Amino acid sequence: MPQNFHSKVLILGSGPAGYTAAIYAARANLQPIMVRGMQPGGQLSITTDVENFPGFAATIQGPWLMEQMQAQAAHVGTRIIEDTIVKVDLSRRPFTCWGDSGDEYQGDTLIMTNNNWKDSQQTEIEATGIPPIDDLESAITATLAPGSYTAVLRGNNGETGNGLFEVYDLDAAANSMLANVSARGVVQTGDDVLIAGFIIGTGESDTVVVRAIGPSLSDMGIANPLQDPTLDLYDANGVVIMSDDDWTDSQETLIQSTGLAPTNDAESAMIKSLAPGSYTAVVRGKDNSTGVALVEVFNLQ
Ligand SMILES: Cc1cc2nc3c(=O)[nH]c(=O)nc-3n(C[C@H](O)[C@H](O)[C@H](O)COP(=O)(O)OP(=O)(O)OC[C@H]3O[C@@H](n4cnc5c(N)ncnc54)[C@H](O)[C@@H]3O)c2cc1C
Repeated sequence: MPQNFHSKVLILGSGPAGYTAAIYAARANLQPIMVRGMQPGGQLSITTDVENFPGFAATIQGPWLMEQMQAQAAHVGTRIIEDTIVKVDLSRRPFTCWGDSGDEYQGDTLIMTNNNWKDSQQTEIEATGIPPIDDLESAITATLAPGSYTAVLRGNNGETGNGLFEVYDLDAAANSMLANVSARGVVQTGDDVLIAGFIIGTGESDTVVVRAIGPSLSDMGIANPLQDPTLDLYDANGVVIMSDDDWTDSQETLIQSTGLAPTNDAESAMIKSLAPGSYTAVVRGKDNSTGVALVEVFNLQ
């Protein structure tokens, strides 16, 4: 007889990411449930020498490290279950997942991780027609209920470099639509600026507001925000179709009327009606300044 589990925090996967989430969630008294998946302990369970885990001066063994993480997660109150998720429904809350066992798992919050896109959901991702080209790239496909979501792109093993984050709305006929995308990153100089590409789908023109947020990020605890961002919008041919430095320079009243005016005068914003096609917003620091910025695209329709 299938069982039904419900938790405030449901964690899929038992690699270092899953156990770390479990330990912190359990310590916050959120009584997490972890579904371990087909590779209990994740990739480090098949790794011998691990030399870069903080706190261990001597080389340690991956399987031992994962046993310790499991014991620690259980010790602080994580319920750990042997099962593999074969189906998810993220279109309503609580989020619901079904295991290979037939059991049903519900989570008010769901933490799922993806390292290499073929690790899980390979068939579903291929069916979208836009799978990543390289096996080391990551992808997740999900049906989402209206709300705000955050995707975090990190380098595996703490690697750094330039990465591209993309989100595609696959169901144009759905009642809900992708209304806003925002991405935070470090703006440097040259090619290492903050770039957001977006597509206006087939059909009619859409009116968008594009913003580059910098100095007001300090209100959110960002230590080194970009003090004076500039914003350029390019079309598919690489031609600049609109530029902005300080949002009050032009379109001030129009931008205010959308309710999306930046809170700091040094930040940039523009409003534009765009025909179907591909566009790129580029955030740079004025006079080659550097720092953390947010690029945001809002669809007003
Ligand atoms: C041979 C080798 C050596 C390595 N050496 C090092 C090293 O020395 N130092 C280092 O820092 N890193 C090393 N790495 C990399 C490190 O192992 C990974 O960066 C790390 O394991 C990623 O952790 P993760 O939790 O994100 O994912 P993973 O460890 O990949 O775990 C993914 C988890 O998701 C689960 N899962 C997948 N699909 C489902 C599903 N449908 N339902 C439920 N669960 C699911 C799996 O069972 C697994 O538990 C090594 C990797 C390998 C393969």
